[in-house]
Amino acid sequence: MLTKIDHLGIAVHSITEARHFYENVLGLTCKKEEEVPSQKVKTAFFVLGETHIELLEPTSDDSPIARFLSTKGEGLHHVAYRSDNIGDQLAQARDEGCRLIHETPFTGASNKQVAFLHPKSSHGVLTEFCSGEE
Ligand code: ZN
Repeated sequence: MLTKIDHLGIAVHSITEARHFYENVLGLTCKKEEEVPSQKVKTAFFVLGETHIELLEPTSDDSPIARFLSTKGEGLHHVAYRSDNIGDQLAQARDEGCRLIHETPFTGASNKQVAFLHPKSSHGVLTEFCSGEE
């Protein structure tokens, strides 16, 4: 079962440049910055109530985020839903005919278990399920 929107992922060229907007214009606090080598990204999490804004900056030209930026430019990259059982969540999506990018969850930023659904199966929005550490 989904319990909330965990975070919105936003692709940026530079976290250093983008954080000015999130900190000074929106007044949010950066909870932490973290590099996720498996995804070739640097992330910065900003807190807003129960939800986070996750900025994603590529650390390599072959990062999925680098590819996203080169075709679409900066902007909303994915919506992440928190699930109380990510395995069941993926199985249900598969049973309903969704194309999964990840058949099994992997460890993402903040030690969460994460998996993505293909945007073609979710009406154009890259969809992440996550569970585990908040
Ligand atoms: Zn995410």
